[in-house]
Amino acid sequence: MKAHDGMYIGGEWRPAAGPDRIEVVNPADERVIAGVPAGTAEDVDAAVRAARAAFPGWAATPPAERAALIGALRDVLVARKGEIAETVTAELGSPLGFAEAVHVGAPIAVASSYAELAASYTFEERLGNSTVFLEPVGVVGAITPWNYPLHQVVAKVAPALAAGCTVVLKPAEDTPLTAQLFAEAVHEAGIPAGVFNLVTGTGPVAGQALAEHEGVDLVSFTGSTAVGRKIGAIAGAAVKRVALELGGKSANVILPGADLAKAVAAGVGHVMNNTGQSCNALTRMLVHRDQYEEAVALAAAAVAKYPSGDPREPGTRLGPVVNAGQRDRVRGYIAKGVEEGARLVAGGPDAPHERGYFVAPTVFADVTPDMTIAQEEIFGPVLAILSYEDEDDALRIANGTVYGLGGAVWAADTETAVAFARRMDTGQVDINGGRFNVLAPFGGYKQSGVGRELGPHGLGEYLQTKSLQF
Ligand code: NAP
Ligand code: MG
Repeated sequence: MKAHDGMYIGGEWRPAAGPDRIEVVNPADERVIAGVPAGTAEDVDAAVRAARAAFPGWAATPPAERAALIGALRDVLVARKGEIAETVTAELGSPLGFAEAVHVGAPIAVASSYAELAASYTFEERLGNSTVFLEPVGVVGAITPWNYPLHQVVAKVAPALAAGCTVVLKPAEDTPLTAQLFAEAVHEAGIPAGVFNLVTGTGPVAGQALAEHEGVDLVSFTGSTAVGRKIGAIAGAAVKRVALELGGKSANVILPGADLAKAVAAGVGHVMNNTGQSCNALTRMLVHRDQYEEAVALAAAAVAKYPSGDPREPGTRLGPVVNAGQRDRVRGYIAKGVEEGARLVAGGPDAPHERGYFVAPTVFADVTPDMTIAQEEIFGPVLAILSYEDEDDALRIANGTVYGLGGAVWAADTETAVAFARRMDTGQVDINGGRFNVLAPFGGYKQSGVGRELGPHGLGEYLQTKSLQF
């Protein structure tokens, strides 16, 4: 795609207020592929004004009409699938097959779900002598990360639009091209001017200006816990609604009696997908001590099926990580794992290729719960395998981090797995390989966040109640 040299504000591409630029780099070969303007507080202000101006009209648009326009947006995303996947591959480094199936497939499914929900949702209910109206919160400031550059955007914009809110988006500086494609799709779908606005830029400048803007009623943020904490403080001081979708350190608990080979292979795949850059990645595998060495051997064999290389090549299952900073960070964690005494079973800190921000797919055994690699979010293709004594020990380890976003349980039968999952402090648990569901609320317990995305629960985040008593 050709990058736009401007911001999408009030239904048109407008020149940026300042001269600063962001270079977009292909992480597979380190080449600069495009440049976009870096927005300032002035651009953010213009975008928020456009969103405010569009709000009364959009809020008053009948839900069925809003639903039809979200459906039209979905149709444009479907029509432009190939171009979107290529763009995600170019700026994120995701293997093309994964980009098509997940980076484009998931947001299309999410947009579809909100086209349906907007039409069927009950925006009004009777409670005793009251009628309760569910009204849109107002102008949404959406701040998104690079790891799922289209999905993270659609997971905020689609429910916001379904609710009747208008939006200003500040996407991650590493993946602005996918965000510009999304803005094109919004335009092509015929969504009224000002309902959706895009300001590309850096977090500390454009992102912070958006979170702080007094014309923003709700800030929806996805990214690191460190930045999330700041956003939460800004929103708290201004008494604004806030939703925080933060990090994770999810546990994949394999109970005795489970299909070990299947559970290990699925667990390894979950971590290697998207080069480990998923907030709900199952980065800690918990195995009973009697099956431990068998599981370690199975994991080593499974990870060998993830050769890294050019994400455009059909055989590649593992791309680079997004940028040089993340590569150094992930390799630092691998070095830390070795230093703290974990056993390297596959991979390691060395660069597997001469060019590109690659990290070797890495598996650690003999990881203890207190180790850094068992506690902190690594956000790379690194799996830690821990052993447990019994179910209570497994539960203590599974719940023993500050996070609680995803999780998985494998057992001989559903009942055993569900009983264990009910004791986990986490927002989602996949039972015996259960698939991702775009209707299920997604979000964290503990420091993994505040609020939920996706499905009817995600829609509810963008609504506020007004009760009329009769
Ligand atoms: P991040 O800094 O939290 O970035 C998320 C978004 O927030 C980006 O759009 C970022 O802009 C913006 N931002 C940064 N500082 C801001 C500020 N002061 N005010 C407002 N917005 C701000 O995450 P990152 O640096 O890209 O990645 C660092 C780590 O975060 C990763 O290693 C991983 O552990 C975690 N992470 C988690 C998720 C998740 O889905 N839970 C996603 C991505 C990263 P810029 O793009 O300009 O930084
Ligand atoms: Mg950042």
